[in-house]
Amino acid sequence: MDTKVVKFGGTSLADAFQFKKVADIIKSDPQRRFVVPSAPGNRFSNDIKITDMLYKTYELASKGEDITDIFEQIKNRYNDIIKELALNISLDIEFVKIKNGIINKAGRDYAASRGEYLSGLILADYLKFPFIDSAEIVFFNNNGTFDAEFTNKIMSEKLKNYEKAVIPGFYGVMPNGTIKTFPRNGSDITGAVVSRAAGASVYENWTDMSGLLMADPRIVKDPKPIDIITYREMRELSYMGAQVLHQDSIFPVRIAKIPINIKNTNNPSANGTFIVHHTEVISENVITGIAGRKSFVVITLEKDMMNAEIGFVKRVLEVFEKYNINFEHLPTGIDTLSIIINEQDGETYKDILFKELQAKANPDSIEYQKSLSLIAVVGRGMIRTKGTAARVFRAIADADVNVRMIDQGSSELNIIIGVNDNDFEKAMQAIYNAFA
Ligand code: ASP
Repeated sequence: MDTKVVKFGGTSLADAFQFKKVADIIKSDPQRRFVVPSAPGNRFSNDIKITDMLYKTYELASKGEDITDIFEQIKNRYNDIIKELALNISLDIEFVKIKNGIINKAGRDYAASRGEYLSGLILADYLKFPFIDSAEIVFFNNNGTFDAEFTNKIMSEKLKNYEKAVIPGFYGVMPNGTIKTFPRNGSDITGAVVSRAAGASVYENWTDMSGLLMADPRIVKDPKPIDIITYREMRELSYMGAQVLHQDSIFPVRIAKIPINIKNTNNPSANGTFIVHHTEVISENVITGIAGRKSFVVITLEKDMMNAEIGFVKRVLEVFEKYNINFEHLPTGIDTLSIIINEQDGETYKDILFKELQAKANPDSIEYQKSLSLIAVVGRGMIRTKGTAARVFRAIADADVNVRMIDQGSSELNIIIGVNDNDFEKAMQAIYNAFA
């Protein structure tokens, strides 16, 4: 039987009502064998996530302040879930241990991790699945980095003995036995790590959205969800600011070529988004998504016969390297070279860059333009579809937006367009409308 690993985010487990939905989802498919829960998240817009309350509790305790009130609130949230689910367990002993641990400085990560730990205990009881403490199977090195290979070895051995299990997200253990967490939203990482160790056929990541969207909904009105996206497309979009899964949570499943399916706990029948290694399926929209970021600077060097001068680009880039400035793009003409960097670096190093570029590369002129936005139009379908670029530029022109820069990667997976910061939103909407 194929194995599915299912990870549920905080809003999917915010209260008893959500726990019920989660249990229904798990029980509706026997392949959903390994379950990775987050800590209870927000129930309503001004609510506070359990993880944030635990960080706060730790902060108060480390200043020697009383944590009785806040800890009671945390207990109540879990006890309400237990009561409403009519479960026969009591977490009282756990609460005492955790409170003492926090007061006795077991660590900030220990405090935060207890959100997932308790949520896992409740879910395991409700589902009648065994509970595996992540501290037994997720390992960090002494320097705090995640030990991916050792974890995979121990975890895959362990999981062989289990038909089903609940494994709390977000934390693991250091060689000295202290609890260590992944970065915020790290249950996604645990889900991916478990998927790899279990040899899952799919990693289902359940959230409160029916998948990734073609564009940022704060900029583009009602963007459509993406059905299928490749890891490489997702990397392009996330680099350009799209809020998708964190790279760390993709890596373990990416190397194992396990697809991720982003699903909606509040609308389980929606297909959601599949994130895959490779697909022959081309979106009917041709493009997969658009993303962009504001506030870049273009530094353009012009020099007669530049293209015949060996080592020119190298000398220019060495100047940027010296000041540890990352460049985003490097469009070139025959006698011009433009370097695109973020505006903060540009403003900080402008004078010194001019001086050094002049000294090292001796260009005829150097120009500095700020307030550039970059928009990435990403789609594996672009290689095979004629006229994509024409559609992008027609849409931008019709919206009366001036294109300041164009860069198409040789992979033809994306087209990058530079526009004025003032035109950013307008251009994004226009491009989206042309394809969606
Ligand atoms: N509960 C943790 C957080 O709020 C981890 C997670 O939810 O993924 O960051």
